[in-house]
Amino acid sequence: MHIAIIGAGISGLLTALELIEQGCSVTIFDQQAAGKAASWAGGGILSPMYPWRYPQPVNDLAKYGKGLYQSWNEKLQPITSIDFEIHETGMLIFDEADFETGLNYAAAYNEPMQHCEYLQQEQLEQINPRVSEQLTQAIYFPQIANVRNPRLLKSIIAYLKQHAQVEFIENTWINHFEIHEHHVQSIGASNGHSYKADHFVIATGAWSEHWSQQLNLSIPVEPVQGQMLLFKTPENWLPTMCMNEVMYLIPRTDGHIVCGSSMHHLGFDKRPSTQVQQNIYKTSLAMVPELADFPVVKQWAGLRPSSPTGVPYIGKMPDLNNLWANFGHYRNGLCMGPASAQLLRQLMLQQPSTVNPAAYDPNRLIPNKELSRTLQTV
Ligand SMILES: Cc1cc2nc3c(=O)[nH]c(=O)nc-3n(C[C@H](O)[C@H](O)[C@H](O)COP(=O)(O)OP(=O)(O)OC[C@H]3O[C@@H](n4cnc5c(N)ncnc54)[C@H](O)[C@@H]3O)c2cc1C
Repeated sequence: MHIAIIGAGISGLLTALELIEQGCSVTIFDQQAAGKAASWAGGGILSPMYPWRYPQPVNDLAKYGKGLYQSWNEKLQPITSIDFEIHETGMLIFDEADFETGLNYAAAYNEPMQHCEYLQQEQLEQINPRVSEQLTQAIYFPQIANVRNPRLLKSIIAYLKQHAQVEFIENTWINHFEIHEHHVQSIGASNGHSYKADHFVIATGAWSEHWSQQLNLSIPVEPVQGQMLLFKTPENWLPTMCMNEVMYLIPRTDGHIVCGSSMHHLGFDKRPSTQVQQNIYKTSLAMVPELADFPVVKQWAGLRPSSPTGVPYIGKMPDLNNLWANFGHYRNGLCMGPASAQLLRQLMLQQPSTVNPAAYDPNRLIPNKELSRTLQTV
């Protein structure tokens, strides 16, 4: 079975991995070089932050992230020589208004990754002595890890590129589907070529609304800009991830600390702004004041593929026999990535699924006609 995957972010790349492991062949298309969009720009925290603020289907996929990445790292590293570093730092949350909800959520959910402890000042100082003296208590999630996502992408791309069943077609915008009797026959590209396959997967992240018109659906996915800045400290300098007021610090093993993030609806604009960068800098120092002694070595912005509730669209697209979705992961596409791709592979190959697919079904997309009818009657 040959599958064309549109989009080489984490959603498309992991889908490709899952499918070739089952003996399929894939062609992966991207408008730019593979792995350069949101999946590169993100922080790589392997849990939704703050998990209780998300619908359960988001957490149901995210809980598999860490374990599945560990397995992929073991499989890919001997071939790619890239360790994408699943860094088991744990996470401190300082928002006092969330303490009770967080502790109750952890008790009710009873999921090892969301195990949570309340820390008073003395315990907090032991676990992370870099934290500001102004922060005297926290809730602590010792199991939450982060993945070094730019290396993750590099590793998957390197693995896929050496695989006999994989072809990459980069710097090529896929514009439309050629459809006959509920069947996509081929896709049309900006280079004038069309490409045939048995099945097609939309993994186009923040660009997914593009398909609304041709498929006569309202696809409510739009880009939401998030900015980041990067400090360089000595190796293993900050022992845990830290979070306060929706801003986080993510330490990598070599001393880089990723700090973010902002949320702005600015279309496809990816330019970092001075004001937002200053705000991230200030909030980072409020958590860990000694960061002021170290240089900021990089700043960037990425485009999250927002969806109304953050629950992605995974499964067969309405009315078409061989067009599949894996998009709309919003703030959690890296942690949901492995289980999303696994679920899509299970649905495509008619295998038993690990999670109940109902909540992710693209049939919840509203047809454009119904949408305009609803708007007319309001
Ligand atoms: C600042 C920031 C911080 C984040 N932090 C985290 C975090 O800590 N943890 C977490 O889990 N998630 C995080 N995220 C969210 C996560 O990065 C995204 O949900 C995830 O990367 C989405 O992956 P994707 O593959 O769906 O999209 P993308 O990575 O954007 O990939 C989509 C690809 O499709 C290509 N494409 C689109 N349309 C076409 C077309 N028509 N033809 C050809 N190619 C096309 C694009 O060029 C792109 O390469 C963060 C995001 C940002 C921006």
